[in-house]
Amino acid sequence: MPIDVTQPYDDGNVFAKILRGEIPAKRVYEDDHVLAFNDINPLSPTHILVIPKGAYVSWDDFSERGSEAEISAFVRATGKIAREAGLVEPGYRLLANVGGDSGQEVPHLHVHIFAGRPLGPMLAR
Ligand code: 5GP
Repeated sequence: MPIDVTQPYDDGNVFAKILRGEIPAKRVYEDDHVLAFNDINPLSPTHILVIPKGAYVSWDDFSERGSEAEISAFVRATGKIAREAGLVEPGYRLLANVGGDSGQEVPHLHVHIFAGRPLGPMLAR
């Protein structure tokens, strides 16, 4: 069920629980501002979710309220995770769903990293 990204941050969401260590996740990267872990239901051989540690509902929220340090850390970490996973040469795709039409399901900003096979067209027609 797509979420309403105009609602305030709900700290009962599943990624907030992963951040607090209340539910497990296969963590692949962590720094002061960023956590990355494998998607529980991978859509490609490599499917990593990168999230800020701060309480941001979506890309819209983060780009408006995130600090320069958080935004810079998030962008750099996303690149580094992909680089260190060896994804640059074969190629990879970043995707961030925002709100209803996108189908965003978890109301904590996450960027998907997809890789490991030819990823096909950007969107189904
Ligand atoms: P969205 O549709 O919001 O962009 O993507 C949400 C993603 O979170 C989906 O790809 C889904 O498989 C993943 N996901 C949902 N619940 C969990 C969970 O408990 N653990 C992990 N690792 N991924 C989850």
